Amino acid sequence: MNFDDLGLMPSLLKAVKEKGYEVPSPIQEKAIPLILKGRDILASAQTGTGKTAGFTLPLLQRLSENEPKGKRNIRALILTPTRELAAQIYDNVLEYSKHINLRSTVIFGGVNQRPQVATLRQGVDILIATPGRLLDLVNQRVLFLDNVEILVLDEADRMLDMGFKRDIDKIMSLIPSRRQNLLFSATFSKEIKFLARDILNNPETVETSPQNTTVEAIVQKAYKVDKNKKPELIIKLIKEGGWSQVLVFTRTKHGANNLCKKMIKSDIQAAAIHGNKSQSARTKALFGFKNGTVEVLVATDIAARGLDIPLLPHVINFELPNIPEDYVHRIGRTGRAGAKGEALSLVSGDENIYLRDIEKLIGSRIQISTVEGFEPDPNFVPAENNQRTRTKHKPRNPNKGYPRRRNRN
Ligand code: ADP
Ligand code: MG
Repeated sequence: MNFDDLGLMPSLLKAVKEKGYEVPSPIQEKAIPLILKGRDILASAQTGTGKTAGFTLPLLQRLSENEPKGKRNIRALILTPTRELAAQIYDNVLEYSKHINLRSTVIFGGVNQRPQVATLRQGVDILIATPGRLLDLVNQRVLFLDNVEILVLDEADRMLDMGFKRDIDKIMSLIPSRRQNLLFSATFSKEIKFLARDILNNPETVETSPQNTTVEAIVQKAYKVDKNKKPELIIKLIKEGGWSQVLVFTRTKHGANNLCKKMIKSDIQAAAIHGNKSQSARTKALFGFKNGTVEVLVATDIAARGLDIPLLPHVINFELPNIPEDYVHRIGRTGRAGAKGEALSLVSGDENIYLRDIEKLIGSRIQISTVEGFEPDPNFVPAENNQRTRTKHKPRNPNKGYPRRRNRN
């Protein structure tokens, strides 16, 4: 699907194009047409899947259908739990409304209120706010909410976690009851359902690929294979298994790039992330991975650290890490609610030593087998292994395991 198919007006499509977006994400595809129709929605999608544009674009369109006459009033109120989020949404609203005659502003606590009040006095159509400062300004009678037509609660679950329930109730009592309501949350907890029942009017529920949260079990497997046959084997496994959302770990940036290229040649939608990729390339790869257009994300350990991705059905170690703790971090990415996650390792002769270190650390054996046609050559003697044998006489601290080298990625 294209942005053009969602019913958005040209001035918005232009802004989207200028942002460099190619296709809408699943949450955008589903939510935008419904919001344009005037429906209330209860939407949940993982962080980073483009929810902001999902509500901002149709909201701008609906507001611009009735051009403001005379002094501008707040017609859309976007509530969000933190000032960082408020500022982020404001930036998005500014960008998407570039070619439209609508004014917006943002208010949050912790800073001098005077400039915020001055902007409000000039009249705005869209207000992005944190609940506390909003109520402060309402109480001081510098802000009025009686013309609100559209209400957005972004990160509603976080607002509840942060104790904003009473503030939200208060705000609800201040805005007209006839309005469009859009509630966004990362999860659909019981509390969110109660809140939705109170606030939303016959909502359409929009959900995209449910988050995998609890780890039922991780099945750990390893296949012995020659180093040079690894790319072919991983491609076969992914294709024959029909796997999508696969996170693959390599030890080096170069290795990640190479593998990624081979996968793309075999018609697998793969993307690599590592330290040499620009921030925008990484953001793009991750966005695609979360939204399903990228099936395989090839990453180095360091690039994967701190990535906000949900638990995945498949994690593959294309190469074992030389630091056993990294193995534990890697496979911690797998697992599915109510199902088994699979952590697979491809082990070449020179990596047996890493496998043993890992087994020592996790305190159990990893089931190891071979795949027909990919059995390692029994006469193959890996170079690195010889080296290890030669250095074996070196005194080592027996508690420390093998010397640890970290590749800088
Ligand atoms: P969420 O609110 O779901 O956590 P955001 O709205 O903050 O996600 O969007 C996450 C990132 O994705 C932002 O950098 C945003 O610019 C980008 N983004 C949003 N929509 C698209 C799209 N259709 N194509 C590419 N990138 C997008
Ligand atoms: Mg968001």
